[in-house]
Amino acid sequence: MSRPIHAVIHYAALQHNLKLVNSKAPSSRVWAVVKANAYGHCIEHVFDALRGADGFALLDIAEAEKLRDLGWRGPILLLEGVFDPRDLELCSRLGLWHTVHNEAQVQMLATHKTQQGHRVFLKLNSGMNRLGFDPIRYKSIWTRLNAMHQVEEISLLTHFARSESTSDVLQTLSVFKHATQDLPGERSLSNSGVVLGHSDLLAVEGFPDDWVRPGVALYGASPDAQHKSAKDWGLLPAQSLRSQLIAIQQVQAGDRVGYGAEHVVTKDMVIGVVACGYADGFPRVVGSAAQVLIQGRIRCPIFGRVSMDMLTVDLTPCLAQGVPVDVGAEVTLWGKSSEGMELSIDEVAAHAGTIGYELMCAVAQRVRVQSDVDIG
Ligand SMILES: *Cc1c(COP(=O)(O)O)cnc(C)c1O
Repeated sequence: MSRPIHAVIHYAALQHNLKLVNSKAPSSRVWAVVKANAYGHCIEHVFDALRGADGFALLDIAEAEKLRDLGWRGPILLLEGVFDPRDLELCSRLGLWHTVHNEAQVQMLATHKTQQGHRVFLKLNSGMNRLGFDPIRYKSIWTRLNAMHQVEEISLLTHFARSESTSDVLQTLSVFKHATQDLPGERSLSNSGVVLGHSDLLAVEGFPDDWVRPGVALYGASPDAQHKSAKDWGLLPAQSLRSQLIAIQQVQAGDRVGYGAEHVVTKDMVIGVVACGYADGFPRVVGSAAQVLIQGRIRCPIFGRVSMDMLTVDLTPCLAQGVPVDVGAEVTLWGKSSEGMELSIDEVAAHAGTIGYELMCAVAQRVRVQSDVDIG
């Protein structure tokens, strides 16, 4: 038998989250963002649940190929565009749409030999200063692209740096509005935070978003966990990281647990050893404030440092509730236990000083990933 740690991908949760996004932006088409192997969920395990989306957006051509192999014939968008001229050939062959955000990409397109015109998304730098053309140059780049036989259609795209702030969203909209005035073409603006939090605002401001680009919302974590939890948004976790206890230790006052012997036991207690460590993607920096779910429903705090392959938990809450625990007991690190109780990935992330996005993407290669459809 293999190590008990595994990630379960919840098919119905993915479908629910996609439906929620659709209901928030009913007149928009949806790019399901599946970069980074679907935020760590594995493209092959999310594809079927998300195929109700209008297209898939990602960065790596290898991932685009995987979608084509899975049978997806619809739109695929490369969010960072191409990196070298050969990529353009693959775009032609696989029918990929691509972002154009820098001069080098414009040049590559101009010299690309193709029979078939490309669908490009011209990116505006609306203030985030990461990718895209400045508002002042935007129209002239559009004009150059529009004159190329290699380009069939140009859509207009930008990205929000602070989707949690209404005033920042309005400011970005105003930059976008000025830069794209009088330009034809479909618009693509919103990430999860804007779709969930501001789609009404976009409508009121007269910015119909033709293509929204939700990522994290589909996977059931909050785009703005500091202010609003995934549950408050109505999202369901699509990934559960689960393992088992592989040892139990009875310890007494004065004993120490784990590396560095930092954690000193103050009373007799029972420690559970979980087959999950930082080499599985569980953050070592979480303090003992972080909790896990034992036997599907009992929250127990981490006790001692997280090591490479294991972590240790204080099983006192189980004993207090009269729930017997032994080797083999289920441990839920985040997501949903097999009894349906939730421990939000954003909560664990907060204890690690980071965001749910990072944890879900960082689940290590050695962790088995399976869809609950396959498990039954
Ligand atoms: C990753 C990404 C998204 C999705 O962002 P979420 O916050 O996960 O919804 C949207 N647009 C672009 C350009 C991205 O790179």
